[in-house]
Amino acid sequence: MLDVTSGRFQLTDIIESMNDQLLQSEIHNPQSAIKDYRLFIDGSYVDASGGNTFEDVSPVTGRVIARVAEANADDVDRAVAAAKRARHGAWGKMGVNARLDLLARVADRIMERFDEFLEAEIGDTGKPVSWAKAIDIPRGAANFKLFANLVRNVPNESYQTDTEDGLGALNYAIRVPLGVVGVICPWNLPLLLMTWKVAPALACGNTVVVKPSEETPGTATLLGEVMNEVGIPPGVYNVVHGFGPGSAGEALTKHPDVAAITFTGETRTGSAIMKTVADGVKPVSFELGGKNPAIIFADADFDAAVAGVARSTFANCGQVCLCSERLYVERPIFDRFVEALAERAKKLRMGDPFQQSTTMGPLISKGHREKVLSYYQLAREEGATIVTGGGIPKLGDPFDGGSFVEPTILTGLPESARVIKEEIFGPVCHVQPFDSEDEALAMANDTEYGLCSALWTQNLSRAHRLAAQIDVGITWVNSWFLRDLRTPFGGTGISGIGREGGIHSVNFYSELRNVCVKL
Ligand code: NAD
Repeated sequence: MLDVTSGRFQLTDIIESMNDQLLQSEIHNPQSAIKDYRLFIDGSYVDASGGNTFEDVSPVTGRVIARVAEANADDVDRAVAAAKRARHGAWGKMGVNARLDLLARVADRIMERFDEFLEAEIGDTGKPVSWAKAIDIPRGAANFKLFANLVRNVPNESYQTDTEDGLGALNYAIRVPLGVVGVICPWNLPLLLMTWKVAPALACGNTVVVKPSEETPGTATLLGEVMNEVGIPPGVYNVVHGFGPGSAGEALTKHPDVAAITFTGETRTGSAIMKTVADGVKPVSFELGGKNPAIIFADADFDAAVAGVARSTFANCGQVCLCSERLYVERPIFDRFVEALAERAKKLRMGDPFQQSTTMGPLISKGHREKVLSYYQLAREEGATIVTGGGIPKLGDPFDGGSFVEPTILTGLPESARVIKEEIFGPVCHVQPFDSEDEALAMANDTEYGLCSALWTQNLSRAHRLAAQIDVGITWVNSWFLRDLRTPFGGTGISGIGREGGIHSVNFYSELRNVCVKL
């Protein structure tokens, strides 16, 4: 499924090792005990010092599944102090190979405890087991293997410099960790996106304080146990739960001993964090929102394009930053394409995420459903044709307590419509016809966002030409979400700052210092 040397990873990869029968969830057993998710500080699980907790709610049923300790500024301070001690203590003094061996063990241990991670992730997000076991958990593990391998093999930069006396000088650069890194995460791919930051940060010798999304505290908490089991020293990995403004998130960004902030989430939040860290001139790595175009030409392999675009629109209930929300389809195939995509949408099965037959989960929360439904309503007001969907499905008990929405396809809006301009982050797209390559390109680029695009065409000259002209960080040609973890990942415009992946992550999580030796 995953080549850890190259970091190649495919959406279609499936792990067959899991025994579904072992999975216990509140869906099948509503009486199952409500979990306690505590803070993980200095290698121990602790309550919040203020005693505050908040509820973790299943988006599948609306029931409370866990009580979560809410860290205040004092807790964040304790976590940062522990991380600082570890940075200069056991972790800082450990040889690089020993450090990387331990991180490779973290990957192995996640795979050994696969079902527990799977259950925690599905409990928090409601995503279908087929997706979570193919993507979220294996990628969460793979991130540690990839960066352990990569950092072991990063070359050093050096130069021989001429000097007047003819003896010369040797310049060489050493890489040093930044220190304590604050890691702030979203809810859509909780373990995967958190470890995408934690793994390279730790591999480079930093220590971390993680603030998971308030919606998805489970897998970050469980990872603390794994860190202890494999012998990662206390204080290297810390978890503070809570919210953003006025809570753990803001306290972390304000903390003077946090050397850098790495954040994935909404563009608006990135902007708020940037203001907070400005006084400390801290480096930031931002993976933000998207309003991604997919352009489908008449010469595309029709069936492959329909299947690919159905995935890029509806995967993870449209809650992947890379999802396509704007489709541009060449006019000769427009009607046939919309019809075929609608057929695919109607076949998506919602309900129990632990059933292999379930292909679409709920939105993350009732609050997020309100937002997505408000865009369905806005589309009507803006004059859209609703080809399919547009409402709440009737799934019966216990799923009517959840946050499900219908997959929705819209047509007929002008490009100026808010529904086409703003990120919705749900299972919804607008499909627009086009008559020329230039027109498609102009519409694709008419946005402040710039995360990714997908091109569907058999004409590779055109694909290369367009890929160079679309203002995004990542373009897929005849594919989507086909990931090689060594490649640069990130957005242009308001979709982000910096690149992560492979050496690009190493460049963010370490600092180069030059040493000049006169010979
Ligand atoms: P969000 O911005 O609402 O929250 C993300 C995290 O930031 C949460 O942990 C939250 O508690 C915290 N936070 C909020 N305000 C804060 C503040 N003022 N200071 C510090 N922390 C704060 O995002 P979300 O709703 O969790 O995630 C969905 C968004 O993430 C979408 O916009 C999506 O496009 C984006 N996303 C981007 C990528 C990418 O790689 N570009 C990947 C996944 C998700």
